[in-house]
Amino acid sequence: MNLPLETESQKKAKKDKLPSVVKGRLKLYDPKADNVKKFITLLSQRINRPVVSSMVACVHCGMCTDSCHYVLARPEDPTMTPAYKADQIRRIWKKHMDWTGRIIPWWVRARSPDSDEDLNRLKNIVFGMCSQCRRCTLNCPMGVDTAALIRLTRGILTELGIVPEGVFNVSRDQWESGNQMAVTEEDYLETLDWMKEEVQEELGTSEIDIPVDKKGCDFMYTINPREIKFDPRSIAHAAKIFHFAEESWTMPRWGWDQTNFGLFSGDDKLGAYVAKNLYEAAKKLRAKRIVISECGHGYRSTRWEGYNWADYAQKIPTESVIITLIRYIQQGRIKVNPTHNPEPVTFHDSCNIARSGDLIEEPRWILKRVCSEFREMVPNRTENFCCTGGSGLLSMAEYRPLRLEVAQIKAEQLKATGAKIVCTICHNCVDGLNDVIKHYNLDMRVVQILEMVANALVIPGKKQGNQE
Ligand code: SF4
Ligand code: SF4
Repeated sequence: MNLPLETESQKKAKKDKLPSVVKGRLKLYDPKADNVKKFITLLSQRINRPVVSSMVACVHCGMCTDSCHYVLARPEDPTMTPAYKADQIRRIWKKHMDWTGRIIPWWVRARSPDSDEDLNRLKNIVFGMCSQCRRCTLNCPMGVDTAALIRLTRGILTELGIVPEGVFNVSRDQWESGNQMAVTEEDYLETLDWMKEEVQEELGTSEIDIPVDKKGCDFMYTINPREIKFDPRSIAHAAKIFHFAEESWTMPRWGWDQTNFGLFSGDDKLGAYVAKNLYEAAKKLRAKRIVISECGHGYRSTRWEGYNWADYAQKIPTESVIITLIRYIQQGRIKVNPTHNPEPVTFHDSCNIARSGDLIEEPRWILKRVCSEFREMVPNRTENFCCTGGSGLLSMAEYRPLRLEVAQIKAEQLKATGAKIVCTICHNCVDGLNDVIKHYNLDMRVVQILEMVANALVIPGKKQGNQE
């Protein structure tokens, strides 16, 4: 994808900030150079301290190998190992930027890509053979962040337009429409209206509202475009719960997409654009807080990464709707009855929330209060396996066969719980898990916490099915 290039003064300012030893060797980006030269120039410009430490720290001990679901599903294939995947970028860095590659290139296996074919091969590794789940990172004694090297490489290839078609399309949609599913403003507002009417009808009251662009509310609620396109009931569940909690809330007309394809494609400029839209919307509406609906990469992007990409002084507190729900239950603003959800439920930790975020016990705290039987899957929490659809893989049709093959690990893990319901707090994981369930014929369905809480609500004045 050809993205706007930096101006000469921006390039110069960036170069001026670099240490003198790097400045001497650094070539500025030349848009007329061939792809290999551009790749190497961009790599040299994007090297930073965390990247260098992951480049140099790997001692090839192999301790991360069994962490990766690709390896577990294909144990005979050495190209599936995290170290092999990271080495494909590491060897280029060694060849062009590290002293070892200049002095003992044969020893450190330093090697440069020579052609577009080599870059295309690299594309298939970084986009098709890693879901950036970071399970290997947590199991590396040297702290090597393989997923960070994968994202760095994806970002450079994205800038060169050497990307899977799905990544190109989703990125373009998010640049053009402000959301990654190209939802128009008309569709967005119509869907919110439709959901408002559904909840009003269900509860027999016209008091339920889904406010848009209301100023000075306690929070601005942001969603995943999938909720508008494929799962609008999740907005209805949220509206119902917020109504009973007597919440003062709003949704923005623009800047409502909390997902961010820049996290997956490695495109920090897209990351900055999307995150800034959202932060600016909250500022304009004078919202006291930003609440993020259930989405793993959306939470990671909006809560943790977005203001770094955008270099934005984001001062408005930001939280997942999971925290909002806990507050309601703890403060007695909503009452829940676990017998409303009688089937056994297990929980799938989203990689972007449990390993790259901070919500591990919180969803469990809620689940134990809203369902009759909660069962942990094994392994769980930060050791959980990816839904296998992370890092935008669901949008890359060409890698679907391999994705479903390595999903065998996830399928076995799900099946072993014996649960009929798997709950997750990520819309991306919903689609990833649904694919696994369908492909491996598992007898279970996927739900999210908002649905479980909405089911469990004790509605004042309404006779409850299984309770008091
Ligand atoms: S990434 Fe870490 S665990 Fe894996 S081979 Fe390298 S040093 Fe060992
Ligand atoms: S980040 Fe996940 S998918 Fe990628 S190499 Fe590591 S364990 Fe495998």
